Amino acid sequence: MSAERTAPLSASDRAYPTLIPPAYAQQIVWNDPNDPILRQVLPDPRELVVDPRERLDPIGDIAFRPVPNLTHRHPDRVLLFPTDRCAVHCRHCFRRNELHDADDAPGVTGLDQAFAYIKEHTEIREVILTGGDPLTLSDQELQLLRARIENIPHIRLIRFHSRVPVVSPARITRTFIEAVTGRLPVTLVTHFNHPRELASGSVSACMRLKDSGITVMNQGVLLRGVNDDALVLEQLFAELFYHAGVVPYYLHHCDLTLGLRHFRTSIDTGLRIMKAIRTRLSSICVPLYVLDLPGGYGKINLEGDRVVSRNGYNWVFKDDFGNLHHYTEVVDENPA
Ligand SMILES: *Cc1c(COP(=O)(O)O)cnc(C)c1O
Ligand code: SF4
Repeated sequence: MSAERTAPLSASDRAYPTLIPPAYAQQIVWNDPNDPILRQVLPDPRELVVDPRERLDPIGDIAFRPVPNLTHRHPDRVLLFPTDRCAVHCRHCFRRNELHDADDAPGVTGLDQAFAYIKEHTEIREVILTGGDPLTLSDQELQLLRARIENIPHIRLIRFHSRVPVVSPARITRTFIEAVTGRLPVTLVTHFNHPRELASGSVSACMRLKDSGITVMNQGVLLRGVNDDALVLEQLFAELFYHAGVVPYYLHHCDLTLGLRHFRTSIDTGLRIMKAIRTRLSSICVPLYVLDLPGGYGKINLEGDRVVSRNGYNWVFKDDFGNLHHYTEVVDENPA
């Protein structure tokens, strides 16, 4: 590695330190710089190139935060953030700029205001534990959280957002499953981006969850140089469902997170890939291709009727309330 490459590389690592759990590291083909797993975890000097149109809070989670550690955008469901820690540091993470700040970690007992808010708002039916990754909490902490949620009579569903089944599948133990299951149905939405991640460990972790009655779904991110290929994503979606029993739920367009231009495809690329996949694969296996509107206005289906108009990279989208939002794509015209 040349000195030129080493210096900015260590700077991007300092800005957002590398973290790769052993089970995930084992899946990497280290001598292949294009390895789709390596690309998701290896710092890249291009992360330090920031476009003024990129954002610190790309999807507006902070704009809809009535109390600390909780986001309430849709009436029936809230995001709850019990931890800032993750099992892996994904380079493409849309929360990479707000995560992993040790001073900020609420811990399970630091959620009193959030729980008071949920109790007060009887329209909330679903609590989504996200983060960070809630599966970095101990079984004891998770059991405590579940008990607090189950104590609120209007809550009907618990959902986890977690990359742990992919990157650290041994964490999915019998005692973990006992800690999170009880009175309420449980859904776990995990995050596979490439068929190579469907190794025997991660597949059997998903099967264990499913066999315990937990609904397992997937949300991936469309990433240039990782999975921006119809054959790769077709194989991912098919094998998630056929082999691991996981329902493909969302494919996210890469958000306007600071320093991620090298990962972003155009929306046209995503639409072309989805169109090809839809002609070949059962609709049961095909996720929705979505974009989180900047500013906190929610997700829109990029293949649906929320697209009002477009002119090159400039789009107009319609949110849940029919309000219009202008969106300009920030993509690398001249990929390296
Ligand atoms: C994505 C998101 C949800 C979950 O939405 P679903 O479409 O039910 O997966 C909930 N709240 C916020 C703020 C979100 O961004
Ligand atoms: S696991 Fe999720 S929250 Fe954590 S770094 Fe990866 S994408 Fe971000």
